[in-house]
Amino acid sequence: MAATPRGSSPASPDSRPRLTVLSGPSGVGKSTVVAHMRKVHPEVWLSVSATTRKPRPGERHGVQYFFVDDEEFDKLVANGELLEWAEFAGNRYGTPRKAVQDRLEAGEPVLLEIDLQGARQVRESMTEAQLVFLAPPSWEELVRRLTGRGTEAPEVIERRLTAAKVELAAETEFDVTLVNTSVEAVSRELLALMKVL
Ligand code: ADP
Ligand code: 5GP
Repeated sequence: MAATPRGSSPASPDSRPRLTVLSGPSGVGKSTVVAHMRKVHPEVWLSVSATTRKPRPGERHGVQYFFVDDEEFDKLVANGELLEWAEFAGNRYGTPRKAVQDRLEAGEPVLLEIDLQGARQVRESMTEAQLVFLAPPSWEELVRRLTGRGTEAPEVIERRLTAAKVELAAETEFDVTLVNTSVEAVSRELLALMKVL
């Protein structure tokens, strides 16, 4: 089975959805899909979030995330610099508002890769946003991917799997679901939804 769109996304007046949110449980393959997509289409702009999580091996400040401490994150929140933010499995994550606004004002498509709580906040504040849910082919496969990635301690994996149950139950809140069986197929679907293809 390739990427399987379920549901349909509402078209904006010029049928060019400008803000797309990609969510889905930890380990489903969001980063892998986005990395593949940007390899093929480097012009697709992805918002870089701020997080209090520590970098994984190979992750660099300003590339995967802006890695900040609790105090810096508190300041971002207090100064209204985040479009949305949430606590996920023991760390905080948020989308810097200005960079997103600048891109949207320039008429460029914007992609956010954020958790369910963040997606809900974006839905409230930006009604034109298109919400895409990335689903695993099965629960067993999700556990296999999250464990197989080998980046989290067992207790962190447990916390993320607990969150995953909540996230999977919220699939119907999204405009469209893509099942991540093939990274290439899902990337193509996502590009089509963003009207890049
Ligand atoms: P997320 O960003 O959603 O937390 P990752 O992109 O880190 O997830 O992917 C988790 C693991 O699953 C990685 O080891 C990745 O290589 C693997 N993976 C991603 N997509 C697929 C796929 N379609 N088939 C098999 N493995 C995949
Ligand atoms: P990870 O630690 O695996 O990189 O990310 C954990 C979760 O945080 C993922 O579901 C990811 O989508 C989400 N996330 C990353 N950046 C943001 C953000 O800016 N805001 C919100 N709400 N969630 C984010």
